[in-house]
Amino acid sequence: MSDRERFLNFIDGRFVPAGRGEFLPIYEPATGQQYAEVTASSWSDVDAACAAAERASPGWRAMPTEKRAELLDAIANKLESQLERFAQAESKDNGKPVSLARSVDIPRAVSNFRFFAGAIQHFASECHPTSADVLNYTLRQPLGVVGCISPWNLPLYLLTWKIAPALAAGNCVVAKPSEITPATATMFAELCAEANLPPGVLNIVHGTGFEAGEAICTHPTIKAVSFTGGTKTGARIAGIAAPLFKKLSLELGGKNPVLIFDDADFDAMLATTLRSSFSNQGEICLCGSRIFVQEGIYERFRSEFVARAKRLIVGDPLDPKTEQGALVSEQHQVKVGSYIDLARKEGGTILCGGEVVLLSGRCAKGWFFSPTVIDGLSSQCRTSQEEIFGPVVSLYCFRTEDEVVQLANDTPYGLASVLWTRSLDRAHRVAANLQSGITWVNCWMLRDLRTPFGGVKQSGVGREGGWEALRFFTEPKNVCLKFS
Ligand code: NDP
Repeated sequence: MSDRERFLNFIDGRFVPAGRGEFLPIYEPATGQQYAEVTASSWSDVDAACAAAERASPGWRAMPTEKRAELLDAIANKLESQLERFAQAESKDNGKPVSLARSVDIPRAVSNFRFFAGAIQHFASECHPTSADVLNYTLRQPLGVVGCISPWNLPLYLLTWKIAPALAAGNCVVAKPSEITPATATMFAELCAEANLPPGVLNIVHGTGFEAGEAICTHPTIKAVSFTGGTKTGARIAGIAAPLFKKLSLELGGKNPVLIFDDADFDAMLATTLRSSFSNQGEICLCGSRIFVQEGIYERFRSEFVARAKRLIVGDPLDPKTEQGALVSEQHQVKVGSYIDLARKEGGTILCGGEVVLLSGRCAKGWFFSPTVIDGLSSQCRTSQEEIFGPVVSLYCFRTEDEVVQLANDTPYGLASVLWTRSLDRAHRVAANLQSGITWVNCWMLRDLRTPFGGVKQSGVGREGGWEALRFFTEPKNVCLKFS
């Protein structure tokens, strides 16, 4: 029996280990040391979670909307009151600076619950008065039991982004967080129980994607799967779940372009581009990793951007001065490093970074990587085309608007794009022509939870956020009524 902290499944309102009794190690990325273990679930655990969810479903869907919203609000309030505890846990589990978890991850998880508690009370459906004696109206009914699968980069933020609308719409949930970052999901389950969420309404099943994840995607009780993660995993999930006719929402990878025109507000652009490149060590699906700069300001941008990137403080995530924490795992550190080798082979020049960072003291064995800027790559090489998901960006010089739009669109991905210009005409024109689900003009990651969120091409299928999420988690049924 281990004396390490153990993250257990939350099924039917109780914490239970997976039936097989196996555990997976959980590491603190900043120290490289194992600090906990997580239960490794298989089909039978998912089956138990589905059975609990199915039992809870009639009561949850019948609960008046206002009452469900009150419970979601109560959960948001509880989370807010424990913000610091959750921020510390998220930072320890993922390697991100605690300052970021405190200012972004946990507040956003609170907002997700608060937002959907409000949204569900304003959610309405269509009514079509066909003629004097015929009325068509649309019922939007909960699906029943749904699966939510989330990644490691924004663990609680993305988990709550899925489960809040699912619950608000009257569904019961079986959720699987990433096996690499299970801490805050487990703590959150405890908090839901404290807020009196009825047993079985939310179930958390830990384990690998291959076992627990695939069981969720194929279990007959699960009516829909909302997934965020890599494109290859998304393709696998579509392959196994689509023939079972499950509703699917897939939020996948990206290789987001940043287009910087000569007329941009240089200082605002520089500060924001630093954030859009390196926030959360570049481990945000929305980070811009291909930076296209117009020729008139290319040299100035390159030298000032590299100088600023070099000054970013890579350090202990607990230190308030730290701007860059640790990468999530040793395996990921190796993957990021392999792309630097590849970039060199493909003719790139590493202008700064490109190295593992060795710290001292408690972080001596942590998985740190320096913010990296690469120049001189073709836009078609693998480094320019494949998602690295780390603190690595490449720079490209362009001359005309048509040229940069073509270059920006020339990847299999289409999640987000960023555009810097003072020309209103150009902003509208280019935004309309970029192949991405989201375009930020003169800003980045400025989020309004009512807006549709998602990608095109290999960045995903479907949209989250606002009404889109509530529509996904409900089944529309048309009722055609003829008066006698
Ligand atoms: P993965 O695709 O590896 O994993 C995501 C989740 O899916 C994890 O919980 C994982 O479990 C699970 N999973 C893995 N294989 C399967 C499977 N066969 N069936 C069911 N579930 C499975 O992504 P990462 O966790 O590595 O996250 C990084 C990726 O997520 C990047 O590509 C990034 O772009 C993308 N992402 C996209 C976002 C968007 O909104 N579009 C937002 C954030 C990230 P486990 O890891 O425990 O095995």
